[in-house]
Amino acid sequence: MSISRKTITLKKMNSEKSYTAPDKHGYYGQFGGAFIPEMLYRNVEELRSKYLELIADINFQRELNLLLHDFAGRPTPLYFAERLSNQYNANIYLKREDLCHTGAHKINNTIGQLLLAQRMGKKRIIAETGAGQHGVATATVCALKGLDCIVYMGEKDMQRQAPNVARMKMLGAKVIPAISGSKTLKDATNEAIRDWINHPDDTHYIIGSVVGPHPYPDMVARFQSVISKEIKEQLKEKTGTAFPDYVIACVGGGSNAAGAFYHFLDEENVKLIAVEAAGEGLKTGKSAATTVLGKPGILHGSKSLLMQTADGQVVEPHSISAGLDYPGIGPLHAHLFTNGRANFLNATDREALNAAFELAKLEGIIPALESAHALAGLKKLFTEINEHAKKRETVVVCLSGRGDKDLETYMQHIS
Ligand SMILES: *Cc1c(COP(=O)(O)O)cnc(C)c1O
Repeated sequence: MSISRKTITLKKMNSEKSYTAPDKHGYYGQFGGAFIPEMLYRNVEELRSKYLELIADINFQRELNLLLHDFAGRPTPLYFAERLSNQYNANIYLKREDLCHTGAHKINNTIGQLLLAQRMGKKRIIAETGAGQHGVATATVCALKGLDCIVYMGEKDMQRQAPNVARMKMLGAKVIPAISGSKTLKDATNEAIRDWINHPDDTHYIIGSVVGPHPYPDMVARFQSVISKEIKEQLKEKTGTAFPDYVIACVGGGSNAAGAFYHFLDEENVKLIAVEAAGEGLKTGKSAATTVLGKPGILHGSKSLLMQTADGQVVEPHSISAGLDYPGIGPLHAHLFTNGRANFLNATDREALNAAFELAKLEGIIPALESAHALAGLKKLFTEINEHAKKRETVVVCLSGRGDKDLETYMQHIS
């Protein structure tokens, strides 16, 4: 029997010791909540009051699992990377989200949210996108189900990410340029929120990471949790135990990390390693390492850590990888960082590039630049640990996406 057909087990809300679910107001410790304009209250409240029941429904689960299996290509392999393992004296497994349809984990979430939207009677889907990856994943599922799709994208990003704009259009989505401010992601987000306020009855807003007002962080984490559910089953089958010593994932907003950590959050023996983008370096002013440089604040509807000036203006982030180029992290991750359940590392653009070239040569896999940060984290950790290592530890790295989209950047750095 295929493992993806078993239903996702839902953790109970409010169980105090569990990291997996926020409290009923959407808080993970001091982070989270729903800080939204009055005019959005109805939309967000409708979602909050319905999402858990809709997700738990047996028919919903059946359709979700069928689409994850037949459309997205799940379960993705858990691949034992032998040459990489020898290099770092550890047993390294790669969770191959790069083999998902559309090239990354994002499709897990867009399928889930689209099915929810349909069950809430919505006919129209909106999304915002920076690099275009989430926009493509959203346009893909809208085409699959025949729903109208409107994607807001900064005008500057549309020029920089022309191939993804073409993909969205080919999939039938309308891409609307955001022409205010810096003409990038945050301006596109403002446009999407404005649209949602104007269309509360027929429209669902698909957010692409574990960010935004409650219930988005929890909802997206649940849809991505299929990653760690499969890791447990696959690792058990391969090694006899479901629990690795380490799980490593990159963090932009934090959805692939949330998915890879989810079923290990309450297993304190599994060390969780999140890797942020240090950009050109932590002290260069061109970085996206939120836990190092950020402070508590409110961004996109929830309280979390974010990079800001002394008077609270959001600082423009930088990373070579468009998917990690975000000034905040989701509230779950802010909580995991603050109470020490997860360790946060960071990798520079250069370190990520080196890790990507290494994986390509050692394993025949070209990773997304985002995922290359997780590999750079592995490299840092195990170059140090190696010196004292007595036994080979088991490490799972979440390979969140494939590198086709990053080829132009890689070509500039091939020596
Ligand atoms: C979008 C993206 C990310 C970053 O988003 P998270 O929500 O932090 O997972 C990471 N990897 C890939 C391949 C992406 O497309």
